[in-house]
Amino acid sequence: LKILVDYDACESNGLCVLASPDVFELDEEDNLHLRTDEPPSELIAGVEAAVRACPKQALRLVGRRPG
Ligand code: SF4
Repeated sequence: LKILVDYDACESNGLCVLASPDVFELDEEDNLHLRTDEPPSELIAGVEAAVRACPKQALRLVGRRPG
């Protein structure tokens, strides 16, 4: 599974960081960064929460779930 970010849509409000701080972070200039764009299975639930939390629909989780 891979995270896709629409950086043009992102308004750096940090809701994804709150939902999943192991994956998303904002730098000093409020630019969003991914710590990983292919999160391990134990982080997927948090990423899905971040996707739902994003008010700009800037996040997508794509690919086939194993199993
Ligand atoms: S929740 Fe969405 S708009 Fe907010 S920082 Fe994350 S990706 Fe950007």
